[in-house]
Amino acid sequence: MTRTEKLLAELIALPSVNPAFLPPRHPQAGEKSVADFLASTAARAGMTVEFQKVLPGRSNVIVRLQPRNQVRRTILLAPHLDTVVADSTQFIPQRKNGRLYGRGACDTKGSVAAMLGALCELAGAKTRPLETEIIFAGLIDEEHAQAGSRALAAGGFRADLAIVGEPTRLQVVTAHKGCLWLRLATHGHAAHGATPHLGKNAVHEMARIVNALETDYAAQLKRRKHKLLGAGTVNVGTICGGVQPNIVPESCNISIDRRTLPGETESGVRRELQALLRAEKLSAKVESAKLAPALPLETDPRHPLVRQFLRSAKQARPVGVDYFCDASVLSAAGIPSVVFGPGDIAQAHTADEWISLKELERAKDLLVGFLNSLS
Ligand SMILES: [Zn+2]
Repeated sequence: MTRTEKLLAELIALPSVNPAFLPPRHPQAGEKSVADFLASTAARAGMTVEFQKVLPGRSNVIVRLQPRNQVRRTILLAPHLDTVVADSTQFIPQRKNGRLYGRGACDTKGSVAAMLGALCELAGAKTRPLETEIIFAGLIDEEHAQAGSRALAAGGFRADLAIVGEPTRLQVVTAHKGCLWLRLATHGHAAHGATPHLGKNAVHEMARIVNALETDYAAQLKRRKHKLLGAGTVNVGTICGGVQPNIVPESCNISIDRRTLPGETESGVRRELQALLRAEKLSAKVESAKLAPALPLETDPRHPLVRQFLRSAKQARPVGVDYFCDASVLSAAGIPSVVFGPGDIAQAHTADEWISLKELERAKDLLVGFLNSLS
């Protein structure tokens, strides 16, 4: 068993389900045991460790590997520590046919193990970059509201490049879509079900809006394409309206998920929706259904450190992914950010989440290789 594999198995055995998905004070909830374990692992390897308090009982863990000379650049390795819910068997790591199974194996404890593993290897090596400070930040709450990366960014943290850990199949990702949740509400006029002509049916109005979104608006989005990401999308996810069959419904609500491209903003999308409704002679109130929107990511692939990372990963071109992550939060704070990690997003959040052990080891080696290529 390699050190990286051992580290990952230990991480899987420590539940760190995002508390947003569990009842209060659930024993599997929170990142604390994982953060403490990483802190003691890093301290044993001779690195300095601190915690950044973010929410009650929930802290980012920050590990620093200082260079011998004066710091000329800082590289941040930033995977998240939380996972989605799991059944209890998923906290028992299982090795089978070159794979390691368990909750978080690919999303994103695999990246945690590869990134901290790379740092431990460099800390113990005879030579390492002389002027590059390497910081590992294990972030909380990515799966819910990205409180960990938001706190890190708000605290004034600076780096020359952030490599955010997510399962990208070892591809360097420079762009991802953003995500907006919006609520649309129609208002009608209640009346007796026997005399519907005396009322105004809010459900009927909404039915026409749903149709317009899923056909005309979806087609409009398909025509606007990003080089790495393709088109933005819209999905009507929930609908709720009316009280009982014999009352003309007074109100109806839907919530929509809109995946955005770089350059698209929440206010822009709301304007676009209002224009669509006006053009089809429909009307609804449009409001935000999420505390903070997840922004899209677009990092210039010609940035020197991004180019160097691409070269050392032997990748000709950067790629884009559909899902969002902490990278856009760090990028919005002025830190050039890419996404990189072992495993495939297709296995994330599944009942039999797994990671290829070969890929896990390769991720650690690629990170060591890239960091060693810096002065
Ligand atoms: Zn993730």
